[in-house]
Formats: sequence, C-alpha cells, structure tokens
Amino acid sequence: MCARSVVWAGGVEIGGGDFVVMAGPCAVESEQQLLRTAESVAKAGARILRGGAYKPRSSPYAFQGLGLEGLKILRKAQEETGLAIVTEVMSEEDVDLVAEYADLMQVGTRSMENYALLERLGGCGRPVLLKRGMTATLEELLRSAQVIAMNGNSHIVLCERGIRTFETATRNTLDISAVPVLKAVAHLPVIVDPSHAAGVRSLVPVLSRAAAVVGADGLLVEVHPSPDQAMSDGPQSLTFHQFRDMMSDLQPFLDLMTRQAARQQMGPHLVAVGGADSCGRGPSPSGCSR
Ligand code: PEP
Ligand code: MN
Repeated sequence: MCARSVVWAGGVEIGGGDFVVMAGPCAVESEQQLLRTAESVAKAGARILRGGAYKPRSSPYAFQGLGLEGLKILRKAQEETGLAIVTEVMSEEDVDLVAEYADLMQVGTRSMENYALLERLGGCGRPVLLKRGMTATLEELLRSAQVIAMNGNSHIVLCERGIRTFETATRNTLDISAVPVLKAVAHLPVIVDPSHAAGVRSLVPVLSRAAAVVGADGLLVEVHPSPDQAMSDGPQSLTFHQFRDMMSDLQPFLDLMTRQAARQQMGPHLVAVGGADSCGRGPSPSGCSR
C-alpha cells in the first residue's frame, strides 16, 4: 500500500495523523468579529482560521464579502493568534492576491468545475482545499483534483460538504461514505464540512463526530460571535460556547479512531468500490467507478 499524502498549510500538517479543525465565520465581516472568533477557536483547539473575503452567494443581492479588506483582516488575525488561514478564491484573476494572504486556498462547491480557476491554482504555490460540487460525484471531484495536480500542484485536501438530494430536512445531505471511499481510492487528505451539509447548527456536533469516526483528517466548521446577526450562514454557525463543547466532546471519538487504526491498517482492501489506489499518479478519476 502506498503512503498517504500529507499537506502542509502554513505550519499545520493535514493528513498526518492529527485531526485538524478549521473554524471561523462564513464571511469576514469586521476586524472585531474576526479577531474575537480567532482567539476563541484557537483556545478551543482549532489550528486553522476560516473566513470568506470573497463570497459566492446564491443571490446577487446577498453580502458578497469584503474582498481585499477581508484578506487584510485575516492577516491581522493570523499575526495575533498564529492560526493558519483558509479562505476562498472564486476567480482565476484573484489567485495571486489571495495566495499572498492564504495558507490554504479554498475552492467552493460552486467552483469545483471552474477549470480556468483550477488550472491557475496549479501554479499558485499554496495548497488547495477542494470542496465537492453540490451535484458532483466523487469521480468528478477527483477529476477536478487531477486538473490542479496536472498543472503542477499536488498539495490538495478534499472536502465533503454535503450534496443535493431529494431530502429537504437538511440544507444538503452529508455523504459520510465519501470519506472512506475517497481515502481508499486516492492518497489525499479528506476533511468534512458539517456546517454546509447540515444548514442548522444543532446537527453540526453530531456530524462532526461521525466525520471523526469514519476517518476524516479534519473539519471545516462555521463559528460566529453572534450567529443570529451573521451576514451569511448564521443558522448553521456555532456560538463560541457550542464550538468549545463540540471540541471537547470529539476527543473520545478521536481516541477511539487512534486505537482502531493501531489495530488495523485502513486501506483500499476495506472498500467495496473498484479501482486501484492512485499512488504516485495523483488521484485517479477511474478509481471511483464501478
Ligand atoms: C463556505 O465555506 O462558506 C462556502 C461557501 O462553502 P460551499 O462552497 O461548500 O458552499
Ligand atoms: Mn458559509
């Protein structure tokens, strides 16, 4: 079995055994909002600060993000807390600018098949967090990862963030089996975003525990100082207190996984779908097809 890839985002190793939690607001709204959040999530154990400066919104009338000003606020939060930064890049024209501020370049669900953007990210000199398109198969997700890799950048973290199904009780449907399947057919780290999957904050802790138990390498979680006043995604954002509780409740589940991993090697042989592991060739699109 080939070695798994680890991806470094700033000084943080993703996929190396530690469960890496990335947390922060959906959007950077103000310096005070971000600095307070950064301090709180760092204290609770997050290693990477999230926050959108460029926001892909479903409505053109919704808050579109602070742009460069938001990036500067992220830099300030990094200087004050030492957290690495993950933030979304929406357009190939913004890649160089965002790369100056981000330790991890987020590609959102709506951009997963923006090939001009993916190609530019191949040369950006930063690792990429590639979110699954909301109607994309795992094979399509891996194909997009391969576009980035073929353009020169194999430092990619995959993110399951829920997919569109007929179910309406949640914003999206968390495809929890995506985690072991992706880990079996590709060597890249895989994280879970329970916030966009659930759409409601009450479900975020339990989905996070599920992610830990199926072997995810980390989480991307929305946290806001006062979610009811948030300019985007308030209903799914945790308060500081809820995030702290969620982090401490996760620990026994992570310990369970560590013990289990010591007993058995997770690998392609555990997974029902066909396809070879793509060691040395980047993720294999054919690896997910039956
Ligand atoms: C986000 O992370 O705030 C976001 C917009 O996520 P997604 O692209 O998964 O909807
Ligand atoms: Mn959001």
